[in-house]
Amino acid sequence: MTSTTQHTVEFIYAILETVADPEVPVLSILDLGIVRDVQLKDDGFHIIITPTYSGCPATEMIQLQIRMALLENGIQHFQIVHRLSPAWTTDWMTEAGKQKLQAYGIAPPEKKFAIPEDGVTCPQCHSTNTRLVSAFGSTACKALYQCSDCKEPFDYFKCH
Ligand SMILES: [Zn+2]
Repeated sequence: MTSTTQHTVEFIYAILETVADPEVPVLSILDLGIVRDVQLKDDGFHIIITPTYSGCPATEMIQLQIRMALLENGIQHFQIVHRLSPAWTTDWMTEAGKQKLQAYGIAPPEKKFAIPEDGVTCPQCHSTNTRLVSAFGSTACKALYQCSDCKEPFDYFKCH
């Protein structure tokens, strides 16, 4: 069997599923919805990604991880293609991804492009009696909130 018959688009997706978001390691880049397409062309696989957020240092890390994961699995002919339009929105996250975020203790995004002042559901106690502490949390992609009921601070994923 030659490598071209073994290496299918499905195989590439299976590899991409193992690449984690560097900021939220419970999420794969497929959960995040940044992989728009995988195409087999004459010169190899084209992996089409839309970066989450232009200020996000995670984007370069994600590309490096994709590259490494493919090479480790014997895929040598590929390129990572950026598609900047339409822009990524949190709507592209999978339902499974949003549930993983909640389980991880980060409030999943509810509205795109929005950093609500209050009313974000607390991932600890599910209260909506919460308030914005800082529009910048532990990274540029997260805003910091505090719950007025259980007093726990938590990050809100605001990348768009
Ligand atoms: Zn709470």
